[in-house]
Amino acid sequence: KMMFDQLSNAISEVAKNIGGRQKMTEKSIANALKDVRRALLDADVNLGVADTLIEGVKNRSIGQEVTKGVTADQQFIKAMYDELLDMMGGDSTVKNTGTMSNVPAATLAVGKAEEPAVILLAGLQGAGKTTAAGKLALYLKEREVDYDAVEAMGEEEASKLLTSRMPTRNRKVLLAAADVYRPAAISQLEILGETVGVDVFSMGTEADPVDIARKAVEKAKAEGYDTVLVDTAGRQVIDEDLMDELKRVKEEVQPQETLLVVDAMTGQEAASLTAAFDNAVGITGAVLTKMDGDSRGGAAVSVRGVSGKPIKFVGTGEKTPDLEPFYPDRMASRILG
Ligand code: GDP
Repeated sequence: KMMFDQLSNAISEVAKNIGGRQKMTEKSIANALKDVRRALLDADVNLGVADTLIEGVKNRSIGQEVTKGVTADQQFIKAMYDELLDMMGGDSTVKNTGTMSNVPAATLAVGKAEEPAVILLAGLQGAGKTTAAGKLALYLKEREVDYDAVEAMGEEEASKLLTSRMPTRNRKVLLAAADVYRPAAISQLEILGETVGVDVFSMGTEADPVDIARKAVEKAKAEGYDTVLVDTAGRQVIDEDLMDELKRVKEEVQPQETLLVVDAMTGQEAASLTAAFDNAVGITGAVLTKMDGDSRGGAAVSVRGVSGKPIKFVGTGEKTPDLEPFYPDRMASRILG
């Protein structure tokens, strides 16, 4: 899968020009950074984010002796990598799994007496919100299994692992259809629920989304669901009604996670949208959809830098299994080719 070709080609071209041996100078780095900045902006990276990245690479590079065995261009790429990683949320093996375990409320892992975890999904129409609801339902429901590890185990150990509860997986999920405005949204969610084998709670298009969310949580408590995934309304544009409704739903059901679903193809627009939703209602992170169709990478690079909120998942296709946790380190590697 070729991603971010343009950006990674540009960066490797710049690296080549820096030279394979000598240390970086003010001049060689200045020209390189100008070219990289242009490549970032071409990739639709937010201007402030691009400048922060450039400043960071500069600080990491200038005056540095080239480490033995490392060429100047390699050092430049390493600086670029480190900056991208910081910008997108740091070392995913630490940070991302840290936040990940909160996704459906880590507290649930301690016992069944706990309240069901609630996850709200918000977003503009067409961003892929309903699809993301189905994908997340499947993700949460599935048991996370390292099949390579299982293969290497004895039978008893393997069966113990296969039946153990993972905090963010192996959940009993209830999908709540609270997008009452788009006529097909409810039936779309019902079909998705059937596809992934997750129950869907709906009250038709006449009900108040706040009531739908509340009743869904009541049903979850009564019937032993541990996670409620609420598909809230999407609109064409951000307006006060949409934000008000989201606020009311949020107040009513006190979600552990409020995730904004944004379209990667909109580039840095996805980042400003994330910031706008966060300012208006408070969100905990973003789901970046349509990464499979995004050849530039502007959204992935910009969302956290602009909004302060992490990308938690990425959508990589139209089918329900096409969802992955977001790993900043993998993304940084991909961007650098
Ligand atoms: P909503 O209005 O936000 O609920 O959007 P939908 O979930 O109905 O999705 C809108 C369109 O985007 C549909 O055609 C989906 O199949 C498509 N879509 C959603 N997520 C992805 C994705 O990750 N990759 C691709 N290629 N298409 C997606």
